[in-house]
Amino acid sequence: GMVVVTDSDEIRQARKSMVELLLGNHPLDCPVCDAGGECELQDMTFSYGAAESKYIDIKSHRDEQQWSPVVYFDRPRCILCYRCVRVCGEAMDVWALGVDNRAVNSTIVPNKEDHLECEECGMCIDICPVGALTSGAYRYKTRPWEMKHVGTTCTHCADGCKTTLGVRRSDTGMEIVRGDNRDKSGINGDFLCIKGRYAFDFANHEDRLTQPLVRRNGKLAPATWEEAFALVGRRFKEIRDRDGGQAIGVIGSTRTTNEEAYLLQKFARVVLGTNNIDHHRTADLPAFAAAIHGKPNSTASMRDVYDAPAILLIGNDPTEQHPLLAWQIRNNVRLHNARLYVANSEEIKLHRQAVSFTQIPNDGYHEFVSFLAGPGSDGGGRPSPQKSWADLREKLLAEPKLVIIFGSEIFGNSIQSLTKFAAGIPGAKLICLADYANSRGAADMGLYPDLLPGYFAVSDGNKFREEWGSLPQKTGLSLPEMLEGAKSGALKALYVIGANPVGRLNVAPADLKNTFTVVQDMFLTETAALADVVIPAANAYEKSGTFTNT
Ligand code: SF4
Ligand code: SF4
Ligand code: SF4
Repeated sequence: GMVVVTDSDEIRQARKSMVELLLGNHPLDCPVCDAGGECELQDMTFSYGAAESKYIDIKSHRDEQQWSPVVYFDRPRCILCYRCVRVCGEAMDVWALGVDNRAVNSTIVPNKEDHLECEECGMCIDICPVGALTSGAYRYKTRPWEMKHVGTTCTHCADGCKTTLGVRRSDTGMEIVRGDNRDKSGINGDFLCIKGRYAFDFANHEDRLTQPLVRRNGKLAPATWEEAFALVGRRFKEIRDRDGGQAIGVIGSTRTTNEEAYLLQKFARVVLGTNNIDHHRTADLPAFAAAIHGKPNSTASMRDVYDAPAILLIGNDPTEQHPLLAWQIRNNVRLHNARLYVANSEEIKLHRQAVSFTQIPNDGYHEFVSFLAGPGSDGGGRPSPQKSWADLREKLLAEPKLVIIFGSEIFGNSIQSLTKFAAGIPGAKLICLADYANSRGAADMGLYPDLLPGYFAVSDGNKFREEWGSLPQKTGLSLPEMLEGAKSGALKALYVIGANPVGRLNVAPADLKNTFTVVQDMFLTETAALADVVIPAANAYEKSGTFTNT
């Protein structure tokens, strides 16, 4: 029956007095403060009308300090709300910020005397209600109202955070000056990691390709778009008509949109007549799709990770590879007392939140999952594991609504085993962690030599044939097989989009010398440097389309 009043004349007067106190030593440098226009203290002053102050003492000034490449601290602006200390410790589990001294002499301090050694996530800057903590990447560059705020999806991992890019006009066109999640919407709410917040400089990097290059007399030279397209079209047609589609390979990307991935595989199959199409695979998404086929509600969302009463994390290191997922797990444990079970070959950082950590050998994931699934699973022919695994299995079976998250260490039959194990737990759901921003989209859209969009086998493509006309039926070459084919001379042409197999797999330059190679990319990668034609590519922040998160 208690009634709580949050707005009355008395309350407004109390708040106004509090704002006056806060402004007592606060420098009124709003015209040059990065937080100007986005400052909670400014907003409170405006709301409560505390424009005049009773305090006439001289304000105590301290010089600004740089604590890291991204974190600057302006002590007089600090209102000692301790939000930064709490977000760094409780939510990020880094504990790099603290408070020195007491009462009015209190001050926020970094963990290493005069500097920070931390994860550089920028969450403390984001949560600071005033301009006491500012960002080295953004400070004094512009005013919030001079930017256009463009909501998009982060391109740096498969979690799919929303990031809002601050874009403004510059001498060279449009320039991204800031990344944050300004309106706290999207699946990530308050959160962005260091990558989503700061890693946008590739967009305006001076090394970006801006015009096509064509190899002439052994050297890549600038060409017009018309020249480049005419050459690519002519050579692809010649090779297809002379040697057949099987002489052409296509390597797609985990960073292009779903729409682009779909069109690329359709182009390969319908126009070039080849199933030689692949991408840099990590998670075994086809095996996961097959394992959950016909089982509705068997996959978990990021929201489930935040709400679930218990989580089993097998493999992966989300703090590094899936920062949003790690944030959701930490906050579920912190705020809802969720029970986290970690099984990993390394003592990953999240083991600090876990009620149970099971160290498994590097090559023991298959055995571990088979053990969980119980008799009848393929145990890899190994002897029975330790008692601790049996205890863990018993505990997990008693965890209704368990969310099971697994990394690319689990693949093939092990995914089937894990799904079988999940089926024995009421309400259990699974997440298969993919690695790159649109790994999931590349898989869903059929960038595979044996699978069409939606994971249909190429031999079972009648529905697609009805729509698209004739299609090659034979399984094509995988990415390593295409590179082998180029080396042996069987593959006459290779089209690579947003991928760098030469750099990643250390391919010898001579292997591609007899293959007409076309690369479409943002930069002159190791693969592009060996190509016959290089076509500049737009990045995800410069086009429209969709990504599918993990
Ligand atoms: S940048 Fe992140 S890790 Fe570093 S002090 Fe701030 S909140 Fe902590
Ligand atoms: S969040 Fe900002 S205002 Fe609050 S204590 Fe930290 S530095 Fe000071
Ligand atoms: S967690 Fe992943 S998607 Fe989110 S901001 Fe970081 S890199 Fe981007």
